[in-house]
Amino acid sequence: TPVANNSKAISFESMDLLGPLKRALAEQNYETPTPIQAQTIPPAIAGNDILGCAQTGTGKTAAFALPILDYIAGEKLKAAPKRPLALVLAPTRELAIQIADSFKVYGKHTKVRHVNIYGGVNQTGQVRTVARGAEVMIATPGRLIDLMDQGHIDLSDVEQFVLDEADRMLDMGFLPAIKQ
Ligand code: AMP
Repeated sequence: TPVANNSKAISFESMDLLGPLKRALAEQNYETPTPIQAQTIPPAIAGNDILGCAQTGTGKTAAFALPILDYIAGEKLKAAPKRPLALVLAPTRELAIQIADSFKVYGKHTKVRHVNIYGGVNQTGQVRTVARGAEVMIATPGRLIDLMDQGHIDLSDVEQFVLDEADRMLDMGFLPAIKQ
């Protein structure tokens, strides 16, 4: 069980998160934020940019997913067709799928919609989901740019941006795609 080493955040219950998010966390039996969650969620909710480093399996996904969901659900924001409000970039399709699963679990009691964009599969379903409007987009860089070039995705409304495993994405040669 992860234990927070930050005395400022003792439980999720005491954090300034929306009720529907706390409910989802309780259902997952998460009580205590991990160190990266305790250190990043409060400043992220307050609107700060965050650079975080932590090993795999230490709860990084919730550390960025919870502030994103809290903002979108709290402000009752709706994405226009093709125009996500939050973008999470990940280096691999496997990671993108895992992240989307986390958004599904943590966002279960909110109305926030997400879409998963990655290559190696037919694009039709992804394009359809984006066209219906999805607040959160979790994408790998290659397929994202492909769909942007085809006019299926427009990033002009993105307010929240996450580079997950940024070091690995750079190692994999995604710098030009990330810049674009
Ligand atoms: P991650 O590093 O984001 O891949 O998370 C690693 C695992 O820890 C996942 O299976 C999460 O469901 C779980 N997890 C994340 N945060 C917590 C927490 N605060 N308490 C218990 N489990 C957690």
